[in-house]
Amino acid sequence: MPKCEVLRIGHRPERDKRITTHVALTARALGASKIWINKQDSRVLESVSEVTAKFGGEFEIAAASNPKEIVYNWTGKVVHLTMFGLPIDDRIGEIVEENKPLLFIVGAEKVPSWVFEFSDYNIAIGNQPHSEVAALAVALSKIYDNPYTKYFEGGKFRVIPSSKRRSMESL
Ligand code: SAM
Repeated sequence: MPKCEVLRIGHRPERDKRITTHVALTARALGASKIWINKQDSRVLESVSEVTAKFGGEFEIAAASNPKEIVYNWTGKVVHLTMFGLPIDDRIGEIVEENKPLLFIVGAEKVPSWVFEFSDYNIAIGNQPHSEVAALAVALSKIYDNPYTKYFEGGKFRVIPSSKRRSMESL
């Protein structure tokens, strides 16, 4: 299975804290190992780090002051998720076939045109506008089999699945 990282473009700290946090938590929960955010935002960092400390895993979060450089230097494949792209099911075989690291780019507001140009793939999760969180979740679930069953080492708590109540055990 390829290693996946996420590049969140266009994060505006004053408006996007919550949604960027959700992008990061979704990336972590569904198998990505790192998120790059175009602007340092200590509140996003704190929320995501708290979840990782509590529930485990080695998810990394980093500021990307120059997102173009990250894309330019990426040694695997760059997959931009956009409603204007090609259907994911038409390209997924090609995207994973060489097992190269994948960098998924998701936007906030309109993404700059260099993202379309520099990406190896411009990929749509359907051609209707929806959300970066939903797009990333669907894309990662196409890369990893059952990503939501991933085991996270080193946390303080583990959820005990229950049909009736909230239940966790301390580790
Ligand atoms: N109006 C913006 C634009 O023209 O790019 C859309 C912004 S949308 C709220 C934020 C991000 O969600 C997009 O940059 C893209 O990464 C993702 N997204 C939204 N709908 C998508 C879709 N149907 N397929 C793939 N990604 C999508």
